[in-house]
Amino acid sequence: MTTTTGRHQDRTALVTGGSRGIGRAVAGRLAREGALVAVHYGHDHGAAERTVKEIEAAGGRAFPVHAELGVPGDAAALWDAFDRALAARDAEPGVDIVVNNAGITLPKPIEHVTEEEYDRVFAVNTKAPYFILQQALGRLRDGGRIITVSSGATRIAYPAIATYSMTKAALDSLTLSLALQLGPRGITVNTVAPGFTDTEINPTLQNPQIRQALAAASVFDRLGTPADIADVVSFVASDEARWVTGQWIDATGGVHLGL
Ligand code: NAD
Repeated sequence: MTTTTGRHQDRTALVTGGSRGIGRAVAGRLAREGALVAVHYGHDHGAAERTVKEIEAAGGRAFPVHAELGVPGDAAALWDAFDRALAARDAEPGVDIVVNNAGITLPKPIEHVTEEEYDRVFAVNTKAPYFILQQALGRLRDGGRIITVSSGATRIAYPAIATYSMTKAALDSLTLSLALQLGPRGITVNTVAPGFTDTEINPTLQNPQIRQALAAASVFDRLGTPADIADVVSFVASDEARWVTGQWIDATGGVHLGL
């Protein structure tokens, strides 16, 4: 038996990379508050199914949507799968909340990055979200929400991940333009920027010394959790945040405050 606050009742959401990590927490949180959630995944069908089952077991509504990102036609494949899944459920076409969350890292300083690696990280982190949003425009209902999961690294220098930070900085800029463009439709467009968060994206987090060092970067002396980020996303997606648009919302646990 679920208790929902109903904050997202009767709304349809898409969460890219929703099968694990931050995306999984976001999908669960939006569903807990009443949204019908499309859990997008790339290759991890099993993890997406588990996320959907967890949501359903808690009384929520969700379905998986498959599309490999970073390949030609990825955004069209994603939205085709989304449209078909909604039709199969006899659900109203359209979407209210789009969370651009899927991403990969490239933990290499500039002198070691190959052209292929550069193209790959931009294809997944920048080009895919760009076309996902382009094709969301005709599907988004008035009053909708676009939320991009960027990174605290777009505003603090980390040479070890310079290229990754560039891919996210481009999305920060897109947030500004789309916020202005979509305001007349009551659609808000914002960026949520996590700091060091305890997920599988960064394998070095398995190393206790690195974990401790990254935890110490936050004023709270701990790593962020996926739930820390999901709570912020859920607020930004809610009606309570209707007057907030074009913003870069720091969800880093204050990593920059002591610098
Ligand atoms: P994660 O690796 O657990 O999740 C990434 C998600 O993106 C996964 O579901 C993965 O399947 C999906 N994905 C990656 N490449 C894909 C592809 N080619 N096609 C389809 N799906 C693909 O990591 P996370 O930490 O949960 O990352 C979520 C977002 O948060 C990312 O955009 C990441 O850049 C951002 N972020 C994470 C941190 C952190 O410290 N964990 C910090 C700042 C920003």
